[in-house]
Amino acid sequence: MKKLITRASSINRALDQIGDKWCLLIIQEVFWGINSFNQMMAATGVSRGVLSNRLKWLQSVDCIQLKPDREGGKRMRYHLTKKSIDLYENALMAIAWERNFFNTPQLDKVSFNHLKCGLEFTPELRCRHCDERVLPFDIDYKPGPGATRDEREMKIRRRSSISVEAVPSKRMLYKNVINIVGDRWTANILALSFHGLTRFDQFHAELPVATNILSSRLKFLVEQDIFEQKEYQQKPRRYEYKLTEKGEVFFPYFLTLLQWGDKWCKAGNGKPMRLIHRNCRKTLHGHVCCSECGGRLKAREVTFAE
Ligand SMILES: [Zn+2]
Ligand SMILES: [Zn+2]
Repeated sequence: MKKLITRASSINRALDQIGDKWCLLIIQEVFWGINSFNQMMAATGVSRGVLSNRLKWLQSVDCIQLKPDREGGKRMRYHLTKKSIDLYENALMAIAWERNFFNTPQLDKVSFNHLKCGLEFTPELRCRHCDERVLPFDIDYKPGPGATRDEREMKIRRRSSISVEAVPSKRMLYKNVINIVGDRWTANILALSFHGLTRFDQFHAELPVATNILSSRLKFLVEQDIFEQKEYQQKPRRYEYKLTEKGEVFFPYFLTLLQWGDKWCKAGNGKPMRLIHRNCRKTLHGHVCCSECGGRLKAREVTFAE
């Protein structure tokens, strides 16, 4: 099988485990308590083969576990694990971005309340040291002890031709996020853009996939208004791809994914990258806070209500 060698990255490792639209959808369904195979098939609309492929995959990376209904029971149900429950902050940032830029009826109906202050909130990403909001270009990236290279599979999962728009589930709070992040290369390109990359050749050097794959993903990101295409050379014509405001605001989602990858998708000698928050010069630990009281949002202190 053909391999792809790229710079070690916790975002890519996280995406290689869960960054597939069906994996992301399954995790969301299980979060809502949908935990039998048939219910999941009805919710996602995918074939039996694709669903069972993804469930096996998610079990192999310890994001889903199969447990009996009750002690000694025969009926087995799918549940989240410690690892997938820890995607909570990432899910909050997905919700925040989706709310900011899309009208998603399922999401618009839901109100999020922080029990600690009793108020409806917007999740915000703040630095644990200085408590300031974390902005994408306010970070210095330094190589960490695990700054090596990762050997990655070109293809890891069985493909499905169904689009996210066609998914019947009513519980998809961030389907636009899933539509973008659920494509592995699109998400990899976006992650690179937060490191300041803008040109085709730069992306290609870091992500040596076929050039037609890279072109189609760049085009898709321009269509989604996440990248803005600007000409920087006339002969021959060359373009660069810069993040729009919508693209920049996507950053906290990727930072929470990076932190999750650092914690749960370890390989080798430690973190591939050290992030320094320029504002306080400390190692960056972002945490997701309540816009109203500033407290860190913990799963048991947040309620969702329709
Ligand atoms: Zn800071
Ligand atoms: Zn609060």
